[in-house]
Amino acid sequence: MDARSVSDELIAAIRTIPDYPKPGVQFRDITTLLKDARAFRRAVDALVQPWAGSKIDQIAGIEARGFILGGAVAHQLSAGFVPIRKKGKLPHETVSIAYSLEYGIDEMEIHKDAIIPGQKVIIVDDLIATGGTAEGAVKLLRGMGADIVAACFIVDLPDLGGAKKLQALDVPVRTLIEFEGD
Ligand code: AMP
Repeated sequence: MDARSVSDELIAAIRTIPDYPKPGVQFRDITTLLKDARAFRRAVDALVQPWAGSKIDQIAGIEARGFILGGAVAHQLSAGFVPIRKKGKLPHETVSIAYSLEYGIDEMEIHKDAIIPGQKVIIVDDLIATGGTAEGAVKLLRGMGADIVAACFIVDLPDLGGAKKLQALDVPVRTLIEFEGD
């Protein structure tokens, strides 16, 4: 029996790749966590724990690792799943928003009919760094009338301030583990 805490187990299951995709970045690779059946289940169980038994309408997953986690979270909460994708990937009519990356601007999209105004939505991604991506998702979803209940991530990089940025937008943030630096 492995008596490690969930956070110790998740930290151990994540692989760090130095200088990827560019020098100075420590890439936190969750594929090693996803292939570990027990760590994957513990991560999803821990993410959804505050909302067990609550009525959540939709999980909005951010491309691409947010799709893997978001699908599992949606199943666990008996909610639907809606994808937020990079520009040009969704087949039907979309609404889009520009968001800031570390260097420059990108655009993300969601199907125009993905959310019914007033629906309770949880945003899911693997990691929050500067929060630019998640902030874009919050603005996109609120523009469609979503009631954002929370944003969930396995990993927080607190030195980059993303979680604080979301809290300043009145979005409760749930993260499971932290790594120093970027
Ligand atoms: P940000 O918009 O700065 O909060 O960046 C968050 C997005 O970039 C998420 O979709 C993450 O998957 C990805 N990301 C940013 N930094 C890292 C990192 N150090 N390791 C792994 N993924 C990262």
